[in-house]
Amino acid sequence: MKTPIPYYLGQILESVRDEDGGEVAEYIPELANADPDKLAVALCSSTGHVYSAGDAEHEFSIQSISKPFVYALALQELGLDAVRDVVGMEPSGEAFNELSLGRDYRPVNPLINAGAIAVNQLINGVDSSVEDRNARLNEYFSRLAGRDLSVDAGVADSELNHADRNLSLAHMLRNYDIIKDDAHDAVLSYTHQCAIRVDVRDLAVMSATLANGGRQPVTGDKILDADVCRLTLAVMSSCGMYDGAGRWMAEVGIPAKSGVAGGLLGTLPGQLGVATFSPRLNESGNSVRGVEAFKLLSSDMGLHLMSTDNRVGTHPIRSKEEDEDHAVIHLQGHINFSAAEAILYELQGYDLDACRVALDISQVPSLNRVGRRMLKEGLRRLREGGNEIAVIDPDGTLTDRELSDGTVVPLADAEDYHINGEDVRD
Ligand code: GLN
Repeated sequence: MKTPIPYYLGQILESVRDEDGGEVAEYIPELANADPDKLAVALCSSTGHVYSAGDAEHEFSIQSISKPFVYALALQELGLDAVRDVVGMEPSGEAFNELSLGRDYRPVNPLINAGAIAVNQLINGVDSSVEDRNARLNEYFSRLAGRDLSVDAGVADSELNHADRNLSLAHMLRNYDIIKDDAHDAVLSYTHQCAIRVDVRDLAVMSATLANGGRQPVTGDKILDADVCRLTLAVMSSCGMYDGAGRWMAEVGIPAKSGVAGGLLGTLPGQLGVATFSPRLNESGNSVRGVEAFKLLSSDMGLHLMSTDNRVGTHPIRSKEEDEDHAVIHLQGHINFSAAEAILYELQGYDLDACRVALDISQVPSLNRVGRRMLKEGLRRLREGGNEIAVIDPDGTLTDRELSDGTVVPLADAEDYHINGEDVRD
């Protein structure tokens, strides 16, 4: 059986492909020349399973999506008190590049440009040279992505040639002793940070690292403390979408960060990271098709953070028993998107050739809408692959057993599948 998640992601892309509003960022030629039709999405579970659809290998500059990660690095290196000395944690309700500082001259949060420039200056110590700071950032972002990332020198150079606004922010910050470097050097390392090249899979994995309490889920590398991730995600949820942050949390409910190259990253704590790419932007500088794709991810996959239908529990596969022609997979706990993802991933790896497969949901108290849909699609795919399928559901938890092809999954008695074989899960 092949897990249907890449197909679901592909469907989301097709649903937003006709959305051709918005314009690519035009303030530098490198971004103005971007192909407006590129479109991609990727998702990474907190266990490190990565799925994608569309132009997933297309690289682009990370831009403002770097900001929460650099904030996390500053918290990790210096602790909250030192970081709070230079930047607040309140939503600004203003555009990302607003020429504003808070009442005490600190930028109000680390995700607007003023705050991001101030935070960048903390990395590797305030006395660090620009070169050493940039090297530290390259190494850190490469660890987060789990591969060596490069910097788009063309983007970095032209950002610098069109940086009057960011330079004015840096001058204000230096005037009020928030930063030590001169304005040009401060903007030099900030634009370097924004010019790191990534693809959507990198962003999904980086985001899943935040979701996973700082352990990169693919490499297993422990990069950040769980407390740092919690703080970063909290700030992302209130400030990540700038002047649209409140409406975003209400409508989409996935802490997120956008970048002007067209990337959009979202994190569900404890569950997963997700990212989209499409370069046409709305007036707030957020990807038009990315925003639409996130709305679908939130509604169709049940990923709204405030959803009361989103409990996460123990591993959803309690055990698996099998002999030559039977397999029974015993599930447990509430089945939502993340639980169903884990089940489908395991099923994909099992060797179930032409045997009778039953999913035992007698220990499953509930399935949410997306969990039910995904489990049923897994069963349909198993049957398509030549298996006979059934569910063991003595309490009728799977209220609707009709599959997408109109057939109904048969019920089985636990006795019919009684196997004395050994339990193959650890
Ligand atoms: N490099 C861009 C800037 O500083 C990043 C802004 C963004 O992605 N929103 O203006």
